[in-house]
Amino acid sequence: MNKKQILYYKNILGAVSSRASCNRAIVGAILVRNRSIISTGYNGSPRGLQHCDDIGHLISNNHCVRTIHAEVNAILCAARNGININGCELYSSYKPCFQCMKIIINSGIKRVFYFNDYKDDFQKEFEKNKYCKFIKIKCVE
Ligand SMILES: [Zn+2]
Ligand SMILES: [Zn+2]
Repeated sequence: MNKKQILYYKNILGAVSSRASCNRAIVGAILVRNRSIISTGYNGSPRGLQHCDDIGHLISNNHCVRTIHAEVNAILCAARNGININGCELYSSYKPCFQCMKIIINSGIKRVFYFNDYKDDFQKEFEKNKYCKFIKIKCVE
C-alpha cells in the first residue's frame, strides 16, 4: 500500500470520525474491498436515541457505554444494506477494543489497519488469531 492511498484513508477517517457523538472517543472506521470503500462508521448512540453530546455520558467501569463503536457501526451499516464484508479490510482511527476485536474476527474482516494505539486489558486475548490481523500504520504525512 502506498503513502498516497494511506493518506487518502486517513483523511476520510478524519471526516467520518467528525460525526462521532461521544467526545470521549472520536473514532471513525471504514470497510474497504479492492481499494473501494464499502461502508463507514463512527461511534455514536443507537439510531433514534439521544447522544452523549446532548445528554451526557453513560459511564460504567470508567467507560462510556452509550455508544456503538465505530468499527461495529461500519459492520452494521454494511449489514443493513446487504453488503458482503467477508474478506474485506477495515481502517480505523484507533486500535479496536477487545469487544470490537471479537466482532471483527467473526465478521470475516481479514485485516485491520489502525492509526493510533488504544489499550485495554483483554486485547491480547484476541489479537493473535487465525483469521484477522491487526496492523498499526506508521505515521504518514
Ligand atoms: Zn459518551
Ligand atoms: Zn470497540
